[in-house]
Amino acid sequence: MTLDQYRMNWNYPTSMRVGVGRISELAEACRQLGMRAPLLCTDPGLAALPMIDAALRQCRDAGLNAGLFSAIKGNPTGANVMDGVAAFKAGAHDGVIAFGGGSALDAGKAIALMVGQERPLWDFEDVGDNASRVNVAGMAPVVAVPTTAGTGSEVGRASVITDDAAHIKRIIFHARMLPALVILDPELTVGLPAKITAATGMDALSHSLEAFCSPLFHPMAEGIALEGMRLVQQYLPRAVSQGADVEARLQMLVASSMGATAFQRGLGAMHALAHPLGALYDAHHGLLNAVLMPYVLVANRGAIEPQMEKMARYLALPGGFDAVLEWVLALRSEVGIAHSLGEIGIDDARIEQVGRMAEVDPSAGTNPIAFSAAQYSALFEKALRGAL
Ligand SMILES: [Zn+2]
Repeated sequence: MTLDQYRMNWNYPTSMRVGVGRISELAEACRQLGMRAPLLCTDPGLAALPMIDAALRQCRDAGLNAGLFSAIKGNPTGANVMDGVAAFKAGAHDGVIAFGGGSALDAGKAIALMVGQERPLWDFEDVGDNASRVNVAGMAPVVAVPTTAGTGSEVGRASVITDDAAHIKRIIFHARMLPALVILDPELTVGLPAKITAATGMDALSHSLEAFCSPLFHPMAEGIALEGMRLVQQYLPRAVSQGADVEARLQMLVASSMGATAFQRGLGAMHALAHPLGALYDAHHGLLNAVLMPYVLVANRGAIEPQMEKMARYLALPGGFDAVLEWVLALRSEVGIAHSLGEIGIDDARIEQVGRMAEVDPSAGTNPIAFSAAQYSALFEKALRGAL
């Protein structure tokens, strides 16, 4: 490396309250951040569940003027974010509780950013020094409460928001989008169906794995990625097969936060392909990464053998690259993930378009090999057909 490559911006995470039953501290957490009228942002599915009712009641019992905003899509859109901003202003709110899976967390964080800005949302896309346009003083504080273990958005500095008009996912970034306070309570995740547990858990693995293969200088992230992967190895099968196993659920929440912490080092080709596929087919983000994982490992093989050897040693797998690949394939089938994108409803109608979109996706910048659009198309086609 040249000395210039050691120049990095690190923002390492935030206050986290970890443990069974810690959701009972939500109102106090809001108060700690100075909120008197939090807007709880979640998705419509969760809004119908007793846990959201209980959270709102807890806040109101504590004297907080809590409101609810739940018009958030599975892949949240710019319109969802701006509707949330309108709800925030209409209710004279002063903070956000981002409560739910990745969609609700990302939307909640983006709403908290946008309540204080004059410029339109896409002006804050993670390009160049757009982040310097943010009026930091206008941002609302955020308490993040994940209910899935995968995206780790509760410790992330960005939100992935779909630009409906352009049909692409854009990353909205500012270092201060990192929530000020996080509650990791495994009881909120015990009701997740096995399929979602598996897909989101594999997303957590993909974050640690891609971060671990990134060429950027970030030794802290490498260490966190390794232990994050080990937690997935040990606990994801348990969390999938025994959904009420609170210890496995807790460890997966931690693995998820670790994956997202690690990917401050960058992601790679799994996400570069999953982002356009999610935008074009509205497919589940974690599931896409899970299916893509072995194909991307094989495509990157020439550049990642030394990292795979380290990883195999840490995970006690016998061998280097091949042992890691076999483990990924075995884990993926153990938790019930399909082998090809064709099996999850992706077709071959847009192979070239997907390749072009992947090449310019921000995650492509830290893949260990800079693939061309044609190489991404070829990789996509293999994953589509199941040709490893
Ligand atoms: Zn992801």
